[in-house]
Amino acid sequence: MNSPVRNPLPASLRPATRLVHGGTARSQFGEVSEALFLTQGYVYSTMQAAEARFNGDDPGFIYSRFSNPTVAMFEERMALLEGAEAARATATGMAAVTAAMMGQVQAGDHVVAAEALFGSCRYVVEELLPRFGVASTLVQGEDLDGWRAAMRPETKTLFLESPTNPTLSLVDIAAVAEIAHAGGATLTVDNVFATPMLQSPLELGADVVVYSATKHIDGQGRCLGGVILGSNEFIDTKMQTLLRQTGPALSPFNAWVLLKGLETLPIRVAAQDASASRIADALADQAAVARVIYPGRDDHPQAELARRQMKGGGTLIAFDMAGGKEAAFRFANALRVILISNNLGDAKSLITHPATTTHQRLSAEVRAGLGIGEGMLRLSVGLEDVHDLLDDIGQALATLG
Ligand SMILES: *Cc1c(COP(=O)(O)O)cnc(C)c1O
Repeated sequence: MNSPVRNPLPASLRPATRLVHGGTARSQFGEVSEALFLTQGYVYSTMQAAEARFNGDDPGFIYSRFSNPTVAMFEERMALLEGAEAARATATGMAAVTAAMMGQVQAGDHVVAAEALFGSCRYVVEELLPRFGVASTLVQGEDLDGWRAAMRPETKTLFLESPTNPTLSLVDIAAVAEIAHAGGATLTVDNVFATPMLQSPLELGADVVVYSATKHIDGQGRCLGGVILGSNEFIDTKMQTLLRQTGPALSPFNAWVLLKGLETLPIRVAAQDASASRIADALADQAAVARVIYPGRDDHPQAELARRQMKGGGTLIAFDMAGGKEAAFRFANALRVILISNNLGDAKSLITHPATTTHQRLSAEVRAGLGIGEGMLRLSVGLEDVHDLLDDIGQALATLG
């Protein structure tokens, strides 16, 4: 689109500035805030103009399943944030993960993934891909030899999330990228838990990054969204046709909400990260809490890796209640400010009992193998005053006696 901005943005802008201005394409009205183009299609002045649009001579918009000005602004801003050449938005995080995986494989290929994955991602790798003749191997994410041993000549991509859900263990992204590349495969990273502010997988060697924008990118619990980022070549050859023809397109309205979310992402994540760090320390001092897992603490088993690949401990904390499931339920039920919910990255602090909700589908043995105990709680720290969150946790712990 034509933009009446007189000077193009300097390339050296820092992330917070990019998140306010990046990708903005103004209409002829010169609006300050990003315009919301709620339109399915576009009109052409002549048949010749339509022909030029369709044969690619004129790079304008054709149909909102392919692209839309508001969605394109969100994609451009995400690409600037991530340092990626290109981005494509999707209706949900799972649409992004599914397309990123399906677009890289065909029958006869093989993928390797870390076993500690978001439940639906695990379904895609373990159940969906094999139905189409794509074999998959799950490995223990921390075990680099396991990744190496799983590689086959037909391995096309390696897939991981770090920190993992809900146990917040880390995978060495740079090391796994090296293993992938040595075997002629790509590395695809689900970067939801770290957020784009605290971890940059492309800089660490990953080839493809996916997000559920539903989480911190919206950050205020309003809409679903997803995004896939990578090189121009990856987007053009592996994603473009798949996304256009199968149609997991992001609604322009949701793209607009997410664009506004990106403006405040750095200050939100910084505040949530700072609060999470204080709350993790406070929980670690409690007798009722058997163990706290927080990547920003020195007692995290991979604290050194956390310092190397993350810019903060993150906005999530996992902890085991000494009294098991019963204590976990009593504690969570007694909270007044922190809400019981399975979402994360929200302005509102949310607490989840993974064993009975998000990870209920897994057998008890698989859960135990992943370190998801009956007493484990996952806390997503929000934007409330940290003192109110500490007070709330304190009064709920007091009810345990
Ligand atoms: C939420 C989430 C997803 C899926 O995103 P949706 O927007 O809910 O489809 C994928 N991966 C991780 C790590 C998530 O937290």
